[in-house]
Amino acid sequence: MRALPIAIRDVVKSYGASRVLDSLSLDISEGEFMTLLGPSGSGKTTLLMAIAGFVSPESGSIRFGDAEMIATSPDKRGLGMVFQSYALFPFMSVLDNVRYPLRIRGVPDGEQRRRAEAALETVQLAGYGDRRIHQLSGGQKQRVALARAIVFEPRIILMDEPLSALDKKLREHMQIELKALHRALGATIVYVTHDQREALTMSDRIAVIDRGRIAQVDRPEALYRRPASLFVADFIGESVLLPVERAGPGATLQGRPLKLAGAVPPGRDLRLVIRPELLRVAEAGADENGLGGEVRQAVYQGDSLLLIVDAGGGLELRVRLPAGRATQSGVAAIGARVELALHRDDTVVLAEDPA
Ligand code: ADP
Ligand code: MG
Repeated sequence: MRALPIAIRDVVKSYGASRVLDSLSLDISEGEFMTLLGPSGSGKTTLLMAIAGFVSPESGSIRFGDAEMIATSPDKRGLGMVFQSYALFPFMSVLDNVRYPLRIRGVPDGEQRRRAEAALETVQLAGYGDRRIHQLSGGQKQRVALARAIVFEPRIILMDEPLSALDKKLREHMQIELKALHRALGATIVYVTHDQREALTMSDRIAVIDRGRIAQVDRPEALYRRPASLFVADFIGESVLLPVERAGPGATLQGRPLKLAGAVPPGRDLRLVIRPELLRVAEAGADENGLGGEVRQAVYQGDSLLLIVDAGGGLELRVRLPAGRATQSGVAAIGARVELALHRDDTVVLAEDPA
């Protein structure tokens, strides 16, 4: 089975006066795990449904490999699909659910059974074929839905928030399983989620969507470390945005020059983006920016300790420390003075108004 690339060009979709997909373009490579990430209502499902053929854009192009698909009906696009609601047939057995796509494609009976059993094995449900759907847990149902989506070996699989109905522990387990399954299948996967952590965990690349447009497309680490806009910086991971002033080619914070990783972008209302886990509790070294203040709150969160620090001048910092030693070191004392260091390589300055 060879995977197919997807090329989306200038796709427009409106409902009444609102443009839900605003001339959106995106290239997805063959075999890639691409996640569409964005807040609720940003247009993720609409884009996925346009790829599937259930939503007809007013204009634009969607190609699978060399083939234009924009006017092709959904059943002719050859896609595997998994939704948040499992959409299984409740009165059929697990096996009959899984072999349904083969039945409607006219695959001979024996081969239907053999391939359905193989798909169940892939999702670690070997031996569950005779069960009824209502005898399964949520995670098992979602794996049946997955087996049904992969049984006909589609070259593209679309998934819309498939894990959001599961509890946290099972969701995290399934994220790792899905990633492994992707490697085994080699299919192109387009995955929708509003959960930034899930997107970072699973994806080869993430397309961040903001009001029907692509805000940024990048690999998880690049997106996290080098967000291109405050929207992305704010949506992905935890961040504190401190107002800074332009000063020649650089910038200052509270009148002091900053040591920065890159150039300060054009535009107004500059912000220094600080990830709370990148601040070190120590005197600043030669390549570091010194920040300091008074501990206002210390919040123990099991794996980490969150300090809320008053940096003076109305600035509030958040510092996330590994919990183990931090809780015993005295930095957690309310009212204590702390020195903080932010390395030059960990700085990002962005404009609120990029102009
Ligand atoms: P997401 O999946 O990112 O939460 P959707 O793609 O479902 O967002 O929806 C994007 C926007 O389009 C929302 O404002 C939603 O209300 C609107 N929308 C989606 N489908 C329809 C529809 N069939 N009719 C009218 N408005 C719709
Ligand atoms: Mg949606």
